[in-house]
Amino acid sequence: MKYVVIGNGVAGVSAVQVLSKEKPPNTTITQFTDEPFLGYYNRPKIPTFIRNNEMTIEDIIAYNLEWYRNLQVDLHVQEKVERINVETKEVMTQKRMYPFDRLLIATGADCWCPPIEGRQLKHFYAIRSLNDALKIRERFKVSKKAVVIGGGVLGLEIASAAAKQGQETTVIEFFPYLLPRQLDEEGGNILKKILEQRGIKIYVKKEIQRIIGDKEVEQVITKDGLEISSDLVLACTGIKPRVELIQDFLKINRGIIVNDHLETSHEDIFAAGDCAEHNGIVYGLIPPSIQQARIAGHNMINKDTKYKGSKISSTLKVTDLFLSSFGYTGKEPELGYSVRKYINEEEYVKLFIHNDKIKAAIILGVKNAIPLIRNIFTQEKSVSDHETEIRKVIPDLS
Ligand SMILES: Cc1cc2nc3c(=O)[nH]c(=O)nc-3n(C[C@H](O)[C@H](O)[C@H](O)COP(=O)(O)OP(=O)(O)OC[C@H]3O[C@@H](n4cnc5c(N)ncnc54)[C@H](O)[C@@H]3O)c2cc1C
Repeated sequence: MKYVVIGNGVAGVSAVQVLSKEKPPNTTITQFTDEPFLGYYNRPKIPTFIRNNEMTIEDIIAYNLEWYRNLQVDLHVQEKVERINVETKEVMTQKRMYPFDRLLIATGADCWCPPIEGRQLKHFYAIRSLNDALKIRERFKVSKKAVVIGGGVLGLEIASAAAKQGQETTVIEFFPYLLPRQLDEEGGNILKKILEQRGIKIYVKKEIQRIIGDKEVEQVITKDGLEISSDLVLACTGIKPRVELIQDFLKINRGIIVNDHLETSHEDIFAAGDCAEHNGIVYGLIPPSIQQARIAGHNMINKDTKYKGSKISSTLKVTDLFLSSFGYTGKEPELGYSVRKYINEEEYVKLFIHNDKIKAAIILGVKNAIPLIRNIFTQEKSVSDHETEIRKVIPDLS
């Protein structure tokens, strides 16, 4: 059997781990990445890498080439797959053709940027890869003013890194409050206050009209006339699944459509991670990418395991700021949940409860509550069974 995996992000490496462990004899595993780095690095570490000039490429590489050798995975670095031939079951790279019996597409995503006038100017960056991080860190050596477009998790982590690097930092968010996917308006406003106290300027409910400059970015202008001078613009405005390899031979919507076996519309081709769409959802997060890739890897050998979707959670990794959210925080009103709340200056907790189960939660500032609520949420435990522990960490919860 010849197993081929396109992509060396978390989905790619999670799949080859399973393939390597479960593969029958006389099997080959070949993996491709178009990135130049000699191993696998963890994208969530990119904001830390941008923040810290001491951190090297070796520091961010989690699995080096020896890891692949030990798993008997033939990793091809900087070798882009340019075409998939489904009839002959081959992938074509810049160098040559490789046959496959089963293929996993784990090509991840690119940044999605709104079509802002001026985004072709020098020092406008979208952040996806370690290469992007290297360029930004280089720019910080001379720049003084950074504008971050997007007040989501990545935007705020990058803004915090820019501020730490001495940049006068401004965040511009289109929605009326920060972290619109993770918070509600009340939580978003508390977070805004905390970040402003740390010296980051934040504008919400603002849309960029254009970026102006002579070759390089110089000024960001919003639709309501605000003018912010800047030496670099960092776009953190979402993702676009990488589906450019798929012409008309697989079903795609936003991502590559997969069934519960992580199988695409071709029975020998699987997809997982940010490029895949399951039940209408492209998660764009690490835990679902790992869960999907492990099941896809297993099913490439033995099609007997079903993926049932993932529970989502996010943590904002900004020094001394403890913020996690679980589930679709208040955005599933059809559940008719009851809400329990605690608010105190820089602390905010909100639990969305239905049938004695936590369907979603926001925890800001109350560090000790995060592991407990995560556990009750992910294990679908009954809230009433854990009332005493909850009271211990959040005594004033309503
Ligand atoms: C800066 C940053 C911080 C993040 N922080 C968090 C976080 O804190 N928590 C969280 O849950 N998620 C986070 N995410 C999202 C998370 O990183 C993604 O969900 C995850 O990386 C998806 O993994 P993947 O393997 O599907 O895709 P990717 O990690 O994008 O990997 C896909 C790989 O395939 C390669 N590839 C694509 N096309 C080809 C081709 N044709 N030929 C060869 N190679 C190809 C790409 O170059 C890439 O290396 C973050 C993302 C970024 C960018």
